[in-house]
Amino acid sequence: MHFQLRFWPIYVLSTCCLALLISCKSAPPALVFPDPVDTSDKPIKLQTKKTYDIYGVHADNQFAGARLNDFTKINDTLYRASISPENYPINASAYYSFKIWSDTIRDIDLELFYTEHEHRYIPKLSYDGKLWVSMSDTDYDTLKAPNIATLKLQLSPDTLWVSGQEVVASPQIKEWVNARTMHPDVRYSQVGKSKMGRPMMHMDIYQASPEEKDAVVILARQHPPEVSGYFAMESFVEEMLADTELSRDFRRDFRVLVYPLLNPDGVDEGHWRHSTGGIDLNRDWSNYRQQEVRSVANHVIETVKRDKNKVLVGLDFHSTQKDLYYTLSENRKTSVDNFKDYWLEGIDNQYADYSPDDRPNDLNQPITKGWFYLQFGAEGITYEIGDETPRPFVRDKGRTAAREMMKLLILRRSGETE
Ligand SMILES: [Zn+2]
Repeated sequence: MHFQLRFWPIYVLSTCCLALLISCKSAPPALVFPDPVDTSDKPIKLQTKKTYDIYGVHADNQFAGARLNDFTKINDTLYRASISPENYPINASAYYSFKIWSDTIRDIDLELFYTEHEHRYIPKLSYDGKLWVSMSDTDYDTLKAPNIATLKLQLSPDTLWVSGQEVVASPQIKEWVNARTMHPDVRYSQVGKSKMGRPMMHMDIYQASPEEKDAVVILARQHPPEVSGYFAMESFVEEMLADTELSRDFRRDFRVLVYPLLNPDGVDEGHWRHSTGGIDLNRDWSNYRQQEVRSVANHVIETVKRDKNKVLVGLDFHSTQKDLYYTLSENRKTSVDNFKDYWLEGIDNQYADYSPDDRPNDLNQPITKGWFYLQFGAEGITYEIGDETPRPFVRDKGRTAAREMMKLLILRRSGETE
């Protein structure tokens, strides 16, 4: 006992140093992109979380993924939901999400009033936060002004969710991740925290040993409202975990590193685009100034170095106006040369009435597509889904895309060993 006590101060001191070292973990060496972006912190404004009560009509933003900056009554039947971004300038992704109900059944007109940019997302309604229905264009219009959408709603004591996209925030994503971790080939870990302290979730997928396997890296939700791209990612990963010969073979020979929620603060706070640092995370893959990017980049780099994995493909799931693939240009030869052409052709062959829209362009700003290429010599692809692409097709195509990728990578591997 006496012996241990004498050394106690040394123990405390060394533990503190270790803790300090871990918390101050430095960023990976910077990468040089042709078009640098300053990603130092900028201030953001958080919305006031509250329930608005106006003579028997109630609106609420107290849930993860909500965005409602003010709620007012204009006249007997007209109400206004004011919507603002977290900061400005910002991409034109005017996201909104709130709950609304009334003490008695009544018909109202509800204005979505955007203080910046214009109406973008078709309103989606739900009574349980799970089943969502898009409003028909006869039930809302933007005739008053491009930044005002007027919705015809019937309110009742049943809580109605009105949202630019389906609400898929930390709780829903954690639930999806938890369900996946029942699979014997999935291991869950937290690889850091967001600026507001939310977990950076990670799933590591492989059979038996991870060592010396070629790897695929999957990212999603750098941009909070890009839920349709997130759905594609879910289906893509689910297909890789399927109990089929193809997926089993793939898990035996390859490793998949999945980071399903890159911007947990932005998603849960209902941001249009940015992190708590006020920055577009998909411009920070050069200097890693935002801790969300830093923790994921560090984790990928250290993991594949430790286990001698070679990253072949990096997919980053997003949403935009329509389905497309941002790919590397011809002059960038990756370690799986021609992967993209064969992959998109494989997807093309599965659908009679759909052809993948390939948008090759050269390295420019520090985005993940370029990061995968510069950091690992890997094929980097931004997998974009349209805001309103029908969800069953998004999911089906996600599964198809996973199968086509697995086939190609297995084929390439057998070609190597023959
Ligand atoms: Zn995006």
